[in-house]
Amino acid sequence: MDLDLGPEIEQFRAELRDWIVAEAPPALAGLTDWTMAGVPGGYRVRGLTAAMAHPAYAQWERTLADAKLICPQWPAEFGGQGMDAIRVAVLNEEFCRAGVPRVIRGMGETLVGPSLIVHGTREQREYFLPRIISGEDVYCQGFSEPDHGSDLAGVQTRGEIDGDEIVITGQKLWTSGAARASMMFVLCRTDPRAEKHQGLSYVLIPFTGPQVRYRPIRQLSGAAEFYEDFLDGVRVPLFNVIGGLNNGWRVAMTTLGHERGGSATVQHLRSEREFWELVETAREHGRIADPLVRQQLAWAYTGVQLMRFSGLRTLAGVAAWRPPGPEASVSKLLWREYHKRLGEIAIGVLGAAGLVRPDGDGYPTSPWQNVFLSSRVGTIYSGTSEIQRTIIAERALGLPKEPRAAD
Ligand SMILES: Cc1cc2nc3c(=O)[nH]c(=O)nc-3n(C[C@H](O)[C@H](O)[C@H](O)COP(=O)(O)OP(=O)(O)OC[C@H]3O[C@@H](n4cnc5c(N)ncnc54)[C@H](O)[C@@H]3O)c2cc1C
Repeated sequence: MDLDLGPEIEQFRAELRDWIVAEAPPALAGLTDWTMAGVPGGYRVRGLTAAMAHPAYAQWERTLADAKLICPQWPAEFGGQGMDAIRVAVLNEEFCRAGVPRVIRGMGETLVGPSLIVHGTREQREYFLPRIISGEDVYCQGFSEPDHGSDLAGVQTRGEIDGDEIVITGQKLWTSGAARASMMFVLCRTDPRAEKHQGLSYVLIPFTGPQVRYRPIRQLSGAAEFYEDFLDGVRVPLFNVIGGLNNGWRVAMTTLGHERGGSATVQHLRSEREFWELVETAREHGRIADPLVRQQLAWAYTGVQLMRFSGLRTLAGVAAWRPPGPEASVSKLLWREYHKRLGEIAIGVLGAAGLVRPDGDGYPTSPWQNVFLSSRVGTIYSGTSEIQRTIIAERALGLPKEPRAAD
C-alpha cells in the first residue's frame, strides 16, 4: 500500500521484516505462490493444500503460534495481540512481500471469532476462541438452504430446545470446505411464530458423528469443494448459542459484514500479481501490442487501483472501530465483478488455445481457464452481486427501498 503511516508503524514494519528474514523457513517461499487468491474450486486451492502438507509449513505454523501471530488481531486475553487493523494490513503486506503465508484459521478466524468477540459471553469466548487459534476447531458455514440463499432470513432448519440443550434438524447447502470442518456455525429457526428475522439463533455445532451427513457438489471448474449437508437431531448445550436465543440475525449480520469486507485490504496485492501474470501471458501469446488487449489491460489495472483505494477506505473504517457497513458490499462487488471480467479477458488473450483443456485425468483446466470458470462463484457466495447492489443502493446511497412481494 506504501502509505505514510507515521514513524511508529514504519518501525513496526522494519522490525517485522527483520523478524521474517530471521524466522521464516527457507523452503517456504519456494513451495507455492502463497499470495495468490485461492479461488474456490480452483487449482490454486489444490496447490496450496499440497504446500501446506510440507514440514516447512508446520514449522512456520509453530513459529507463528509462539509469536502470537495466528489471529493477531484478536484481543490479547483470547490469545491474539490485539493488533490494530493498520498493523494487520502491514503484516499482510510484509508476508506477501516475503512470499510467506499468513497462517489463517479459515472461517473460524475471520467469521466465527469476530462474531464471538462481539456477541459471545466471556465464558463462550474463553472456551471457543483458543480452539480456533490452535486449529482444533475448523469451522464451516451453515447458512444457505435449498430455498433460502439470498433470502437468508427465511431459513427453515429447526433448533428445538430440550432442557438445557438445543437439537438441530434440517438441510444446509453450498457448504464450502465441509469435508475439512470439525464444527459448523448454523443459523436455525428457534421460534417459528416470530417475525422471520426475529425467530433465528446462531449455534456452534460439532460437524461430526452419525447425526451429520454431507455429500459433495461438482462445480463448473471440475472441483467439488462445497457440499450439501443433512443435520438429523444434532444435540448441543444451550451454551453453544451465540448472542442469545432468537437473536441470531444480528450475529449473522456481523459474520456477513466480515465475510464481505474481510480481505479488502489485501485484495489489491493479490490482484496486482495476477494482473502482471496476465500481462506476461499477453506477451507470450504475441498479443501485447494489440490495441484492444492493451485497452482491456488498462481497464484491469484501473480495477486493481480502485480495489486499493476501496481497501484503504475499509481500513480507515476499521481503524476508527466502525463495524463493517455497506462499504463491505462495495469492496465485495468491486472485486468479484472485476475478477469475473478478468477471467473473460484472459480467455480472450489466449484465443483459441483458451478453449482447449489440458490433457490429463479428471477434469483438468489451465490456470486462466480456471480463473474464468471459478471467478463466477464470487458473484454468488456471501451475497450475490444483485444483493450487494441493493444494499449499496438502500443503505449507502439512501435510495428508496425495493418493493417487497409482501408489501
Ligand atoms: C462457491 C460458493 C460457496 C458457498 N459457500 C457457502 C457456505 O460455505 N455456506 C453457506 O451457507 N452458503 C454458501 N454459499 C451459498 C451462497 O451464500 C448462496 O448461493 C447465495 O447466497 C445465493 O443464494 P441462492 O444460491 O439460493 O440463490 P437465490 O437466492 O435463489 O438467487 C438466484 C438469483 O436471484 C437473484 N435474487 C435473489 N433475490 C434477489 C433480490 N431480492 N433482488 C435481486 N435479485 C435477487 C440472485 O442475485 C440470483 O441471481 C456458497 C455459494 C457459492 C457459489
